[in-house]
Amino acid sequence: WLDEAGRPTRWMGALTDIHDNKTGEEELRAQARRKDEFLAMLAHELRNPLAPISNAAQLLSMTAHDPQRVRQSSEVIVRQVRHMTSLVDDLLDVSRVTRGLVELERERVDLCLVAASAVEQARPLIDARRHHLVVHYGPARAWILGDRIRLVQVLVNLLNNAAKYTAQGGTIVLAVEAHGDSVTVSVRDDGIGIDRAMLPHVFGLFTQAERTPDRSQGGLGLGLALVHSLVQLHGGRVEAHSEGLGKGSCFAVTLPSVAAPADAQGEELPVR
Ligand code: ADP
Repeated sequence: WLDEAGRPTRWMGALTDIHDNKTGEEELRAQARRKDEFLAMLAHELRNPLAPISNAAQLLSMTAHDPQRVRQSSEVIVRQVRHMTSLVDDLLDVSRVTRGLVELERERVDLCLVAASAVEQARPLIDARRHHLVVHYGPARAWILGDRIRLVQVLVNLLNNAAKYTAQGGTIVLAVEAHGDSVTVSVRDDGIGIDRAMLPHVFGLFTQAERTPDRSQGGLGLGLALVHSLVQLHGGRVEAHSEGLGKGSCFAVTLPSVAAPADAQGEELPVR
């Protein structure tokens, strides 16, 4: 179950989800296996950053006189710690969402502004992978009742996935459209795509599809499960589309819209 880099492969967990006609006992065994696989992945994901952090810390003490090497080592430490922090945050979040402990702080928000904040947060990964990001805000503003921070988290997850699962220099299109009583925000990429058999399962907890050779960040299959739960908490839905492997993917979040606030007329749309 390990790939050439010594990481556990993800197909086992993914495939066990696909066969629906299991007996109760088989399902229990499959669940136990998924849990074991997840623990192995978790251990790997938490272990992986420790070696570079430890090396960089040793280098720091040996090269204290060289500002450039000090900066390089510090950057490694900051990047790896950030990666670990976001994994642990996702884990804590998933556990809180599944136990029903997440309460939304709802306010009237414009999804275009939410999207602009998400773009800002996802920008480092998008730029690092030299992707071209196109943003379309529909002609109308997209007012909804929602938790701004949680909605940004949803879109950052989708944008980061688009960046991760698209070969360098790809195109990502983020579009916000208002239609009557709902608004849709979609993130489309021209990346590795998703096998049709996997599509209905990508929102499952710990589900991961095929591992790509250029994939540098492991992940734990938590992001889309979180996205799904958070969108549901907002009374919306999220859909995954792909024509198949190699044909790109599109994730669309649809939320019920509300009337614009009386004082919204003069507000500027976010910079594209
Ligand atoms: P992670 O990215 O940590 O594996 P996610 O829950 O965010 O976990 O995604 C689950 C799986 O769905 C990923 O492992 C990947 O196989 C697939 N996936 C998600 N987004 C995309 C995308 N934009 N293009 C192709 N595959 C994707």
